[in-house]
Amino acid sequence: MRTPFFVLIAISAIAGAQAPQPDGGGVVRGVLPDRWQISGPQCPPDPHFQVHEYNANLVLLRESGCSNYEKPFLFLVFGTAKVLLLDTGAGRTDVAQVVQRVIAQWLARNGNGTIELVVAHTHAHGDHIAGDAQLKALPSTTVVGLAPEAVQSFFGFKNWPDEVRPFDLGNRIVDVIPIPGHEPSSIAIYDRQTGLLFTGDTLYPGRLYVRDAAAFARSIQRLVDFSRGKIIAHILGNHIEQTRTPYLDYPIGTVHQPDEHTFELGRAHLLELNDALHAMNGTVIRMALRDFTVWPVTSR
Ligand SMILES: [Zn+2]
Ligand SMILES: [Zn+2]
Repeated sequence: MRTPFFVLIAISAIAGAQAPQPDGGGVVRGVLPDRWQISGPQCPPDPHFQVHEYNANLVLLRESGCSNYEKPFLFLVFGTAKVLLLDTGAGRTDVAQVVQRVIAQWLARNGNGTIELVVAHTHAHGDHIAGDAQLKALPSTTVVGLAPEAVQSFFGFKNWPDEVRPFDLGNRIVDVIPIPGHEPSSIAIYDRQTGLLFTGDTLYPGRLYVRDAAAFARSIQRLVDFSRGKIIAHILGNHIEQTRTPYLDYPIGTVHQPDEHTFELGRAHLLELNDALHAMNGTVIRMALRDFTVWPVTSR
């Protein structure tokens, strides 16, 4: 039987956005570690970041639990003109030195003399901005402000939060998606090159603190809508608080997490979160799911 023309159009519209074959989806691939370095129980005098090259142009940093129990992740995304640093960590660290070293290695490998550093934040909480002052002191560096207005004007938002803005790093565009709810300045970043979706503290294997329930629910729906039909290689948040045992987390403040959950989540987790929020119908309640917990708070 001949396939009717309109069916062909429908199929090609879907095929254009998603991968027709299990061939990697056309994104630049990378590798995540099987396990991250475990902090503690004894802490070295000089705690450090674990630096992991996802691929040649995307580097993940994880802060040691020995410098701060939050153990946040930071991300460096390299374009040809700019490198984007997402977040600056918690507590007192040598983050600017570590970032400078990674950038110097990249420049040497690529035969470049310099690259502009843009420092943005997944959101404005203290465990992701503590290194800002150090980074502001670096040359060729712009540190985006923390208030929602500063984020909006830097990325050129006219219709926050109902707008997605592209940000060009030079032959590499990332999409900036407003996701207020955990915090008013919260953004997600989608890297078209790798298919990675960075979600900050809004979605990660741990306690998803919801401060503004209505905004949070709308933001998760916005992420679902944005990601529909796109290649989502991994969803990467900012922390790991979950264990590998379903429905079980490490208590707040835990440094030593020998059996922590994998860092990466997928779009299925986003759909699961959206489904749970829809079922709560406007009143967000604490609810443990297999890989994360919805956790309403009045201040955080
Ligand atoms: Zn936060
Ligand atoms: Zn955090």
